Amino acid sequence: MYLQRIRVKYMEPCFADTKKIRLKAEFPRDVSELLPYMNAVIPNAVYTQQGPFLSFTKEFRLITVYPGELTVIKAINSTDAYQILEWLRELMNDIYDQRSSITPSYDMRRRPSILALFQLLPQDKYNCGQCGERTCLAFSLFLWSGEQKLENCHPLVEPQYLEEKKALQDLLGHK
Ligand code: SF4
Repeated sequence: MYLQRIRVKYMEPCFADTKKIRLKAEFPRDVSELLPYMNAVIPNAVYTQQGPFLSFTKEFRLITVYPGELTVIKAINSTDAYQILEWLRELMNDIYDQRSSITPSYDMRRRPSILALFQLLPQDKYNCGQCGERTCLAFSLFLWSGEQKLENCHPLVEPQYLEEKKALQDLLGHK
């Protein structure tokens, strides 16, 4: 079996939503070779060859797979976190078993940069703190990682920011 187990290194509350869980876990082997196959199979995967690492969402949870470890952000609770790890382990084992019939993909689907998100935030409300973060840059970072929601930047609902809000929604893939 490609992955016998995935070992949790730590679990702690998410920064932005302390009712949810973030965790880091480690693989018993280097999984770099599997990332292009996962990239080909997982529909919303974002693959970065330099690294390498692969990120994707499972509903609202953000999962990032590195060669030797992975992170999960926004698991509902510890039970959900362990279920996600087991789901991922089975998925990776299936992909490994079927790799001869999968064409690996090295396509790097684009993901917005943190700076691109930051530049669209209301500049005249710079670091106002209404989102619960101390700075707009921190908000951009958590927005990028999936730990913040766009609607938490309250100034963005003001009509003068309609275009920026729409651009942010487009970048983040919101409908
Ligand atoms: S509410 Fe918006 S403008 Fe204010 S600090 Fe947060 S991200 Fe910046």
